Amino acid sequence: MDRPNNIPWYKQLHWQILMALAAGSLVGVIGGKDVVPYVAWMGTLIIRMLKMVIIPLVFSSIVSGVASVGSGRDLGRLFSKTLGYYLLSSLLAASAGLTLSNLIKPGDGAQFTAETQPFRPDTPDSAVDLLLDIVPENIVAASAAPEMLQVIFFCILFGLSIAVLPDKHRLPLQSFIESFFQAMMKMTGLVIKILPIGVFGLIVRVVGETGFSTFKNLGLYMLTIASGLAFHFFITLPILLFLLARIKPAVHYRNMADVMLMAFSTSSSAATLPLTMNAVENKVGVSNRTSSFVLPMGATVNMDGTALYECAGVLFIAQALGADLSIGQQLIVVLTALLASIGAAAVPSAGLVVIFICLDAVNLRGPEVEAIVGAMLAIDRPLDMARTMVNVMSDSCGAAIIARSEGEEGVDVENVAAAEGD
Ligand code: ASP
Repeated sequence: MDRPNNIPWYKQLHWQILMALAAGSLVGVIGGKDVVPYVAWMGTLIIRMLKMVIIPLVFSSIVSGVASVGSGRDLGRLFSKTLGYYLLSSLLAASAGLTLSNLIKPGDGAQFTAETQPFRPDTPDSAVDLLLDIVPENIVAASAAPEMLQVIFFCILFGLSIAVLPDKHRLPLQSFIESFFQAMMKMTGLVIKILPIGVFGLIVRVVGETGFSTFKNLGLYMLTIASGLAFHFFITLPILLFLLARIKPAVHYRNMADVMLMAFSTSSSAATLPLTMNAVENKVGVSNRTSSFVLPMGATVNMDGTALYECAGVLFIAQALGADLSIGQQLIVVLTALLASIGAAAVPSAGLVVIFICLDAVNLRGPEVEAIVGAMLAIDRPLDMARTMVNVMSDSCGAAIIARSEGEEGVDVENVAAAEGD
């Protein structure tokens, strides 16, 4: 993709995306809402193209990955490591959100008047429904929706079934799906080439429609979440990378630079997934066997930024209403934040929608609560952009850590890293 050492900077993807971000912000500020209809199509185009590749990419990646893992024991080990990492990183994030909210107390004394629009979406699924929902009734419908967890469930079973076939049937199927996967990665590479145009359209729309002024309210609340996300992004995840896998965080973060800009621009882990897979395999150097396990599932269930956001959001509302949450209640908030982050779809603002799971768990309900959530909705976009970056970064760290633990030595090795993009 981009080779920082021998091509001019303006041809490198991350610079192009940064320039698109800057130009998009400028056009959005100057042109405001009027300019949005003229450029919004560029963002829509790129999101459509990314969505277009997601299902075939995830399908071929998981099936070929699982089929190549082979025996049930290897698969079980990979699975438990993956879940263990998701749990650890999300728990650390949620605890950071809780601690910072207790220290900064952004909600103390906050006033919310009737001017704010109450917000109450459909009640999200319960935890049991969440588990049952993983099993698709109809795989075509699940792919069309798309219901990512259902698709992943089917692909894992399909991959396993291929792995246990006799060679006569296993080998042709495996090599067909492997080639299919390579073709999808090529297609993703093509979409990546036009990313800067899409980023420009997306940012003009965000800035043009919302402007910067709405963000001035709720300043302390935003600051609390921003510092929590920054702490997790710059301190916790690098420590995990180093302690668990002896990976230099700077190398890994450099490898993920383009992907971060895309997560920031789209506010969607799902839309970013094709890029994440491309970068983690081609730049970070993780095998398809590992990345096909950690990334698609991670994009859907491992959301550190969202878990942190749920905790901080609930505490903010409790503080604003003068409701003192006991330590026990705060622990319930952490646990439900984990569940909510698993249940949140990998799309913009999903985190705010599932906050009601956590609020219900500690009996925070009613019109006042909905009014505050309405105000939070107004300033959700920049927070969403930041938490999506954290969500995606955590997935990529998980892939690198698990790959190293599986003996993949070439992961995040300096210099090799940046040279293998295409
Ligand atoms: N937008 C986030 C993501 O896709 C989810 C959220 O709203 O927290 O990762």
